This record gives sequence, C-alpha cells and structure tokens, in this order.
Amino acid sequence: MELYSGYINKLIDELAALPGIGNKSAQRLAFYIIGMSDERVNRLANTLMEAKSHVMYCKSCQNLTDSEVCPICGNPSRDHSTIMVVENPRDLAAYEKTGKYKGVYHVLHGAISPMLGVGPGDIKLKELITRLGEEDVQEVIIATNSSLEGETTAMYISKLIKPTGIRVTRIASGVPVGGDLEYIDEVTLLRALEGRTEL
Ligand code: ZN
Repeated sequence: MELYSGYINKLIDELAALPGIGNKSAQRLAFYIIGMSDERVNRLANTLMEAKSHVMYCKSCQNLTDSEVCPICGNPSRDHSTIMVVENPRDLAAYEKTGKYKGVYHVLHGAISPMLGVGPGDIKLKELITRLGEEDVQEVIIATNSSLEGETTAMYISKLIKPTGIRVTRIASGVPVGGDLEYIDEVTLLRALEGRTEL
C-alpha cells in the first residue's frame, strides 16, 4: 500500500528531482505546499511558469536575462574589449558584487567533465568563439573554478583562443581547490583577478 496519496507522491518526486533537495526535504516541502492557501499555490505556480517563459539567455554573454541583451552587455560604460569567462550566473554575480570589474562576461553554463560526459559541445563555448570573431576583444580572462573540471575547461579554451592572438589570462589560484567561486569572499576574488597570469 502507498504511504501517501498518489498526488502527494508525484509532488514529492518532482521536488526531490531538484538539485540539493533530498527525499526528506521534498516531503517537508510537499506537505507545506498542500497546507498553503489556494492563492499562494497559484502564485507560486504562475511565478514558475512566468520565469520559465520570460527568462532567456543574453544573446551576447549567455547570462540569464529578461531581455534580448542583458543590462551588463547593454551598458556602454563597461569595457567590452575584456571578457571574463565564468561557469555559471552565480559566479558572475559574485564578481559583480565586488563592483570592481568593469569588463563584460561570458557564461558557459557548465564546465567540461569527461567523467560526467560533459563535452565542449555541451557548454556555451561555441557562442564565445563566435563572439570573439565578431567583437573587438583584447583580453579573455578565464575565471572557471579551480576544480578539475574548471581547470580542464580553462586549458581547452586557452588552446582554442591562443591562435587568434587575443590575450588569454587565468585568474590566480589561491582560490581554494574545488571551491565554488560564489562562496569566496570579495577580497579573495579581487586578488585572484588582479593576480591573473598569462596562459
Ligand atoms: Zn549579456
């Protein structure tokens, strides 16, 4: 016999499939949602649908945005000749929080991982190369994580870009190995950026 109603089980399964949510949390959330007013449940459902249908990738940097071009790429006072390559929007947010970086970004939405079967074609790398061909870029700063995947990705990108003659740099280590950029404090981020080295 099923422990809960079929509808509850379905809700638990959907929630448990989200990253970072185990079965226990999924159960807790499911019961919480059932206890919410109809109005709140409707609002939550609508917010999910709206976000899904309106949020898109910036056609330049591939960050998530509500318009064709994100506010950073659309800002003429940013230095469009310097592109910092990050793994995900959270890393971009971490650098933006420092308020010191004036260039623009490129968001890969992942990192190359032969072990997990993630190849160069599975991240937004092709878009970066296209961009380098179309824009006047002086420097590409590779700010992928210092994990094995991040380093593999950095090496791969560096090999791709080097022949074009564009300057390629890598943020300094000192950022803990395997550490997610978003958890690193601003001072460390800035030091990593300032201490970047040629690749
Ligand atoms: Zn953008």
